[in-house]
Parts: sequence; structure tokens; C-alpha cells
Amino acid sequence: MWNYEADIIVVGSGAAASSAALFAYEKGAEVIMVEKRARPGGTTEKSGGVFWIPNNSFLRESKIEDKKEDALRYMARLSYPTLYNPSDHHFGLNDHQYELLEAYYDNASPTIEKLHAMGALDATPWIAWDGQVFPDYYAHLPEDKVPRGRCLVPKDPQTGKGVARGFELIRQLREAINQREIPILLNHRAKKLILNCKGEIVGLEAIDSENHIVTLRAKKAVIFGSGGFTHSPEKRLNFLRGPVFGGCAVPANEGDFIDIATSVGAKLNNTANAWWAPVVLEEVLEHPSPPTDVFMVSGDSMIYVNKYGKRIVDEKAVYNEKTQAFFTWDPIKGEYPNLMVFMIYDQRTADIWGNYPPAAAYPIPTKDTPSPYLIYGNTPEDLARAIEERLNKIASATGNFHLDQSFSENLKRTIKVFNQYAEQGIDPEFHRGEQPIDLAYNGPAAPDHNLPNITMYPIASEGPYYAIIIAGGTLDTKGGPKINKKAQVLDHEDMPIPGLYGAGNCIAAPAAQAYWAGGGTIGPALTFGYIAADYAVQENIKEP
Ligand SMILES: Cc1cc2nc3c(=O)[nH]c(=O)nc-3n(C[C@H](O)[C@H](O)[C@H](O)COP(=O)(O)OP(=O)(O)OC[C@H]3O[C@@H](n4cnc5c(N)ncnc54)[C@H](O)[C@@H]3O)c2cc1C
Repeated sequence: MWNYEADIIVVGSGAAASSAALFAYEKGAEVIMVEKRARPGGTTEKSGGVFWIPNNSFLRESKIEDKKEDALRYMARLSYPTLYNPSDHHFGLNDHQYELLEAYYDNASPTIEKLHAMGALDATPWIAWDGQVFPDYYAHLPEDKVPRGRCLVPKDPQTGKGVARGFELIRQLREAINQREIPILLNHRAKKLILNCKGEIVGLEAIDSENHIVTLRAKKAVIFGSGGFTHSPEKRLNFLRGPVFGGCAVPANEGDFIDIATSVGAKLNNTANAWWAPVVLEEVLEHPSPPTDVFMVSGDSMIYVNKYGKRIVDEKAVYNEKTQAFFTWDPIKGEYPNLMVFMIYDQRTADIWGNYPPAAAYPIPTKDTPSPYLIYGNTPEDLARAIEERLNKIASATGNFHLDQSFSENLKRTIKVFNQYAEQGIDPEFHRGEQPIDLAYNGPAAPDHNLPNITMYPIASEGPYYAIIIAGGTLDTKGGPKINKKAQVLDHEDMPIPGLYGAGNCIAAPAAQAYWAGGGTIGPALTFGYIAADYAVQENIKEP
């Protein structure tokens, strides 16, 4: 007895699932979508909506050649830095790793072009504040032969301009889904796969909002696009390589597919990695799925210091890369010295960025809007005392993390040295403001800025000083069942589990540890959604 029947059952409704549903329908399949939340769109809807597409049509129109070998070299270098071999024909990767990257390069642009032809997505290059096409995250590496132009965004139909807004991406995809009348069962949580006696996937069991079991027959296949496991504290602790405290994925992303797929024999991969991003610690402790993480940190008279009052990183570096500096382990003290970092800034930065529209300079609060997460003190000593008071309040959630007693003295020295760097425009320790991406994310110089490096300005010699507690987090995770180049989920013998596909953050990311550029998560989600649909519709009808 089945409650529903379709050729293809798609789980989720973010980028991966929407792409899979649209392409399966386009190829003539009957499709039903199953979504755990009351609202479709997933984390994709909350996102910036940027998708990274190598060799895209806009590059080709501009006669910029994004050769397969060059793009794969860049991807391989960042995805597998410990395997990378520039002179090997697969760059040191095994066949499986290489084929996934190759499948991405081959299918990414066709995915976007086909979505456009179907009237499901109108894309355009992402333009930064300075009028330049947005750079890749490692545009400064010699392996990046096309450092700008692979990041695309949806075009706003009202203005005809590109907008970095996940809401618009999902709006366009959903409009296309609705036009095709593809049904979506909201408030239905996929719980269990149903197999026939041959071990083929023939359906899905879901639980509705009233806790009733709903059975769906999938005549051909089930495609999962159900997001990562950011909101499973157990999986976070046991799978991820860095200590993180949460993140801005939608709360439904609890890694359900890991439990569902392993129970039918799927092999897991890439569980240690995530799309990392700093978070405002106290905010995620209070609201586990905040509206956003700390992407491009605002302020020029601003630094990040650790519990010893020392800088640890280029504060303007990309969120994904910077977060990994928080995971350093001190083998003598037996501690994570950067587990929490303190974003410190002065009244000038508070005033300038506090005048931005609400949330535009997040985490710096809008002027006159009190933020419960802001800490202040008139001197470095006052500030240290105030931070300590706050750390005491949250000690049970942080492994009793405290400042070292050297904090305020070191902070004074750190500020003095940083101020010299700001005057000279050069940060010899962390190279702040040297990379194209630092500038793209920094935004224009502050109105009173008259120094050589727009990302740095001396911190005032007098208080008040402000601090925000920052810690490691995720946009979402990217480990899970291993897939092949057809997006089929593999078992422990690396054989496809018949009728089971996955794309997006619920599977082991083809990108492995890399975040190649803005859009490095949604690009593969859309593309492997397309690949999954393409192969799933070709499956034979299976007898239950
Ligand atoms: C603020 C923010 C900005 C970001 N900006 C960008 C950006 O500009 N570019 C970029 O590439 N990435 C960005 N990201 C990351 C990006 O949003 C995600 O990596 C991407 O959207 C994941 O897509 P997905 O389809 O895999 O998952 P999701 O969009 O998270 O969709 C998963 C869906 O599955 C549903 N689900 C979960 N479990 C079940 C279940 N058991 N049964 C049924 N349904 C289930 C969820 O409710 C959800 O709707 C950003 C993230 C955030 C939070």
C-alpha cells in the first residue's frame, strides 16, 4: 500500500533538490518532492545565491578561455592539497576523485544554460563593489588561470541586474517548479528507504507533521538533496575535524541522509570537512540557526585576537579559510588557543560601520541598536575584565574557556604593532588586504581613510573599545554518502546502490576540502542535481 507513487522521489527543496526535480521532470519523469520544513528553499534560500561555474557562457562570450585542464588543476590543488601533484595527468588524484571534478567541469555550465532555456534561472556574472567581476577565493595562486568571472548570481527581473541573494535564486527555481505543477509534500521528513528483495531502492518512508508514516513509491529512483548535518551536535562532534559551535544552515539539516543511507549500506566520505565560517558565539548558543554567519568582517580599525591577546590570521581572509585557523591545537598546553577569538574595534569603526543599514556590517551592530553580544571597556584592562565576565556566563558551553592573564598587556602590544602596519599599509605577518578577495569582500574605504591599505586603519589610543566573541561554525557540512560521477550513492564495495542518488550538502562533496570561490557550494549542488536526474530517469522501473 503506497500513499504516493512517482518515477522519481526527490528529498529536500534547496538548490540540489530543486535542480534534480526540474531536470527529472524535463526528461519526462513524474516527480514528487518531499520537504521536512513548512517552507521550501532550505539553506539555499538564506544564502547569497552565488554559484561558481567554470567555463560559463559569459566567459566564453567574453572570449576568456577557461580550459578544462586549467580549471581542474585549480580545483585539484585546493580540494586535495596533500595529494596534489602538478605533473601527474590526474594531478595526483585517484580516478574517483578526478572523475567527480571532471563531471563538475563538464556539466556545470550546461546545467545553468539548460535551466535558462527552461525558463528556470536567469544568471549573470557577479560584480563586486568596485565594478570588477568577482574574484575566486584563491585568485592569487598561480594555478588560477581564470581568477575572475566564474561566480554567477541570479538576475533580478525587475532591475535586470545581478543580485547575490538566495531568495531570488529559490524564487526563480520554485516558480519553474510550480509552473510544472511538481507536487511538494511539506512538513514531511524522509526517514527510511524501502528496498525490494533484490536490494533495489523502490521507495521512501516519511513522517508527516502529525507523526503519521507516509509511504512513497519511487518507480525509478530516490534522489536526496537534504542538506548537511550542522544541526546534529552529535555528528558535528564526531565527524568534523575542527571544533565548531553551530551555523546558519536551516535547523532541519541534521544529517538525516547519513542515517538513512548507511542503513542501506552506503559508504561515508569527507565527513571531516565543512563549508566553514566564523559565528558570533553567543548568538549561536542562543539561536542555533542564526540568520547569517560572519562572512566578510567589517571595520578597518579592527582586529581578531586570541585568548593571549595576539592576532592569529588575516581578518579579511575568506570565511572558510580563516575559520580553519581557529582549529590550531597547542600540544604542550593541551588547548585550542584560538577556539574563541575576540573581534576588537574602536569607537571610529563602531561609528562608521554602525551607520550602515541593519545587518549590512554584521556583526557590528547598527548604531543605537543595542546588541546583547557586544562587550565594551574603556581600556584594554576594562575590556579584558568584561570579556572574562561574559566567558564565565557561557563557560559550560565552551569547555571552560578563559582569557590568559597576559591578554590585556599583549593586546596593547598587538594594537601598537597593528597600527604601524596600518600606517605603512603592509601586514607582514598575515598579509591583510593583499589578496584580490580581501578587497572584494572589504568594500570601499571608510570616508576618512587616507592610508595605503584600505583594509587597515590604526586603532584609537583611547577607548571605548568593543569586543565580540567569535568562534568556528559552518554554513553547512559537506560529508556524507560517497557518490560516483553519475551521482549514484555507493556501497562499501564502491558499487552503486540501485535507485539511490544524492547531490548537494547531504553527500560527500566532490570539492572535498576546497571552497574554490563564492558559489563553490551552490554550483556543485545545482550541477550534481542535474547529473542525478539525468541518470535517475534512465533507470528501469523496479518492482516493489
Ligand atoms: C547566509 C548564507 C549565505 C550563503 N551564501 C552562499 C553563496 O552565496 N553561495 C554558495 O555557493 N553557498 C552559500 N551558502 C551555502 C549554501 O547555502 C548551501 O551550501 C547550499 O544552499 C546547500 O544546498 P542544498 O540543496 O545541498 O541544501 P539546502 O538548501 O540546505 O536544502 C536541504 C533541504 O533538505 C531539507 N531536509 C533536511 N532533511 C530532510 C529530510 N529528512 N526529509 C526531507 N527534507 C529534508 C531541508 O529542510 C532543506 O530544505 C550560504 C549559506 C548561508 C547560510
